[in-house]
Amino acid sequence: MTGWSLLYESFDPPAQKLREALCTLGNGYFCTRGAAPEAAADEVHYPGTYLAGGYNRLESDVHGRIIENEDLVNLPNWLPLTFRHEGSEWFDLHQVEVLDFRQEMDLRHGILKRHIRYRDDQGRITRVAQRSFVHQSRRHLAGLETVLEAENWSGTFNIRSALDGKVVNDGVERYRGLSNHHLAPLEVKRIDEETLFLKVQTNQSEMRVALAARTRLFRDDRELCVNRETIREPSFIGEYLSVQVEAGRPLTVEKIVSLFTSRDEAISECGLAASKEITRAEGFSDLLAGHRRAWEHLWDRFDVEIDFDGSKDLEQDRTLLRLHIFHLLQSVSLNTIELDVGVPSRGWHGEAYRGHIFWDEVFIFPLLNLRMPEITRTLLRYRYRRLDEARNAARDEGFAGAMYPWQSGSSGREESQKIHYNPASGRWIPDNSRLQRHVNAAIAYNIWQYYQITGDMEFLLFYGAEMLLEIARFWASIATWNEDLDRYEIRGVMGPDEYHDAYPDADQPGLNNNAYTNVMVVWILICARRVLDILPEERRQKLQECLGLEKREIERWDDISRKMRLIFHDDGIISQFEGYADLKELDWKKYRRRYGEVMRLDRILEAENDTPNRYKCSKQADVLMLFYLFSADELRQLFHRLGYTFEYETIPKNISYYLMRTSHGSTLSQVVHAWVLSRSDREGAWKLFSQVLHADYTDIQGGTTPEGIHLGAMAGSIDLVQRCFVGIETREDELRFNPQLPREISRLRLKLRYRGQAVEISLDHKRLKLVCTACGVEPIRVGFGNRRAVELCGGEKYECTL
Ligand code: BGC
Repeated sequence: MTGWSLLYESFDPPAQKLREALCTLGNGYFCTRGAAPEAAADEVHYPGTYLAGGYNRLESDVHGRIIENEDLVNLPNWLPLTFRHEGSEWFDLHQVEVLDFRQEMDLRHGILKRHIRYRDDQGRITRVAQRSFVHQSRRHLAGLETVLEAENWSGTFNIRSALDGKVVNDGVERYRGLSNHHLAPLEVKRIDEETLFLKVQTNQSEMRVALAARTRLFRDDRELCVNRETIREPSFIGEYLSVQVEAGRPLTVEKIVSLFTSRDEAISECGLAASKEITRAEGFSDLLAGHRRAWEHLWDRFDVEIDFDGSKDLEQDRTLLRLHIFHLLQSVSLNTIELDVGVPSRGWHGEAYRGHIFWDEVFIFPLLNLRMPEITRTLLRYRYRRLDEARNAARDEGFAGAMYPWQSGSSGREESQKIHYNPASGRWIPDNSRLQRHVNAAIAYNIWQYYQITGDMEFLLFYGAEMLLEIARFWASIATWNEDLDRYEIRGVMGPDEYHDAYPDADQPGLNNNAYTNVMVVWILICARRVLDILPEERRQKLQECLGLEKREIERWDDISRKMRLIFHDDGIISQFEGYADLKELDWKKYRRRYGEVMRLDRILEAENDTPNRYKCSKQADVLMLFYLFSADELRQLFHRLGYTFEYETIPKNISYYLMRTSHGSTLSQVVHAWVLSRSDREGAWKLFSQVLHADYTDIQGGTTPEGIHLGAMAGSIDLVQRCFVGIETREDELRFNPQLPREISRLRLKLRYRGQAVEISLDHKRLKLVCTACGVEPIRVGFGNRRAVELCGGEKYECTL
């Protein structure tokens, strides 16, 4: 790694799929894995192209049971481009002697580069230099440039370029027993002498996808006119080109591709649009110039400049942070605005989790809110468009309001699988993860955070309030009154810790009184009332009328928010759920000795015919999520409102209790733990922060990153820098700073947007400096620590000594 690049200096087949995920190119509209253009899907390579929100459903027969899954579809591969000396085999890295190899992912400009020098079995040495991009501002375009140079030979070169729609979804080994043919052929043709065209359609969602590929050859900056022979098959079109080469005279092959689908707006038909776009597209260099510019503009807003304490090891961390920002901006970007998409937990980088949308937004939005909230608005509108589906889901389960699904895809219905495969035991087992109703808490929380940071009243009026009120309503209806205890309860749910989905030996899945869920509900019910108070009278009245929301119901919200049940054990430990205290302690040492890595303890125990349901062990932060989302002050108020004590000791006590019982089976876990430890155990926090930074780069979970990056952890790592190290809090219409710079960082600089104001921040161990640079916007209120907030206008500075 260097400042802005990932570098690979040898060809390493076992690492290829991981590299493909990390070298994915994308623009928020579509993503293409960084696979070698000459490679087809096999044990080493997995080329994949995915459209943001491009799903299709298929039924599969698993042991006589029909299950349906909605998948993110692997679209036709636009990369195929290979070459050979006439008469020999097509280029294959496995078959030649590789003399030099270098692959670079240029994060600053979103360009994937590859340099190879190889000798074939006849002793011919050839150099290959490739560059590719998925255009960051011309969202339908991508390009691949290949410069070929014969070093010690002259003769005929054959080139093969193609669009391959014969691809299937085969990127995740665990899903291999399931149906995976999503594409049906529609059309292949030549648009003109240099351009191929392919159109396919998904076989259930009827999404049409059209691609056009223009391949041109150049020598000495002059375009060559060459013979082309077309290869036509259903769902596949390619061409052979033949050209004479001379030693030392490079030949450039330029492939520009356009991709449109029937989901696009402002087009008449995707095939026509793809053809028109390719005809209008400039050459590789001109397109590349625009692409580079678009990335520079994005970095200007998103980069976090960090000076480390001089230790060389830490220099890597800067690149890793950039790698994380880079992948976030390839998954969601300016191109996302106007699209009907959510933010996928694994990026559009692979087929893991089928491109579904979970609660991971809660880790991703803070970064977008403070830089490009327009994107968050779009992503929240993805939820708004699916509000009716959520209402129906609530009704079907006998609840009021709106109940969003744990996993969401095209329509917003529940997409969680009903059974999942445990590779450790080879068994298909019930998947109850849909009981994670807490996704509804995350959505409400996100709506409020977005509003707090932007002050976007229009959003609140037309979308946010309605969703938030309907979610509040759902929670109030799932809560039941326990007369004996004089408390409300929420029964039959799962918390974020997915290891526990039922009581030991219970017939039914679900747990009662998950503390995280219950506290979130209290917060939501308070927040919903507050939203009603902020809405202008007329809008409030109309909204209440439309929703049939009556005074009685709102009064009940208030009652629940004062009498929700929390359970404690061991003198001040907030029980993760009712009955947690009765579970057995797990012999962690024994399991670590036996299995080494116990991140997926659930799979290990299931393979031993046991279950984590019996033990005090967590996959990820659950109770501790509360300390991640709320300040100590906020929690104290919430607990006091409920009549429970919240002491100074509560936080550290609960952190150490749960941390030692957590396996970090989700990359989100380290984000949360790094955060909650940051004030009490700096070393421990830094260690976890480092793990988050390295999680995808080193594929910490052993095989998951090749199937797709972990966007929540990636965004979460940057959020740790901004909200934890810089200590940014946005509450009560104020932007507050409470910095806690780790020893390892000497200086930090970043740019934020808050309520329309652009704020440049620079922080070291002595000083915090802010400059507001946007004129013509309302002054913002800025506070430091417990000091009273001051008003800042465009052009004004604020500086304080720490
Ligand atoms: C985690 C969830 C997360 C999902 C998608 C799971 O492993 O337990 O919390 O939402 O991955 O990232």
